[in-house]
Amino acid sequence: MRKQIVAGNWKMNKTVQESTQLADEIVGEVKGLTLDNTRVIVTPTFVNISEVLKVTEGSAVEVAAQNMHQAKSGAYTGEISAEMLTSLGLKTVILGHSERREYFGETDAILAEKVDAALANGLEVIFCFGEVLEDRKSDNHFNVVESQIKNGLFHLPVDAWKNIVLAYEPVWAIGTGETASPEQAQEMHAFIRKIVAEQYNAELADNVSILYGGSVKPGNAKEIFSKEDVDGGLIGGAALNAEDFIALVKSF
Ligand code: 13P
Repeated sequence: MRKQIVAGNWKMNKTVQESTQLADEIVGEVKGLTLDNTRVIVTPTFVNISEVLKVTEGSAVEVAAQNMHQAKSGAYTGEISAEMLTSLGLKTVILGHSERREYFGETDAILAEKVDAALANGLEVIFCFGEVLEDRKSDNHFNVVESQIKNGLFHLPVDAWKNIVLAYEPVWAIGTGETASPEQAQEMHAFIRKIVAEQYNAELADNVSILYGGSVKPGNAKEIFSKEDVDGGLIGGAALNAEDFIALVKSF
């Protein structure tokens, strides 16, 4: 059975004190839950990862990074390598977030390199993709999503997919308060599973977790997460306070 995941993308928010406090609250709440098939992940900004790891140690709360550079090491001022993340004890990295694609020029080709570097270092990748509003309006959203997945991931061998989680985040629903309807999310997730099955095989496609992201809140999570092909969420705003985030963890 594929895993359900609630991952909080903290983006460029919170000081080290605020991050450890939030992590501490989440750890406290998670202790009281039975998380049979659900993973809980938080992703602080790089500089706060070490301190957050101290707080989550020994708990069920996992810590992941929001990004990394594709090169092994070298003259890339300001960048962070996969090895730096694994040396901290991290197991997971988010790649391809629409904000990275839009504001930092991350192309499909760069992302394919990042995916390779992450996997080569033993990291699991939460790979994000999603269409902008014009694509949806012009009925081009399936094509856009297919090409992002194809260009970023379809060069991988079957075996690599055990370390891939997919995250569909329609850009028009990120931070806007506008959510894809549960039906729109399900339709896209089913499409994604279909193209993965066609490229690889049905068993692989059936085992890959596909998260939805974009204005997921305690008020809408249950309905979205209940859809057959939606295996959880990648959460922005509602991940920044423990009460909302834990409500989402309880929404399966
Ligand atoms: P919001 O939940 O704030 O819309 O952000 C979603 C997101 O971008 C998660 O990666």
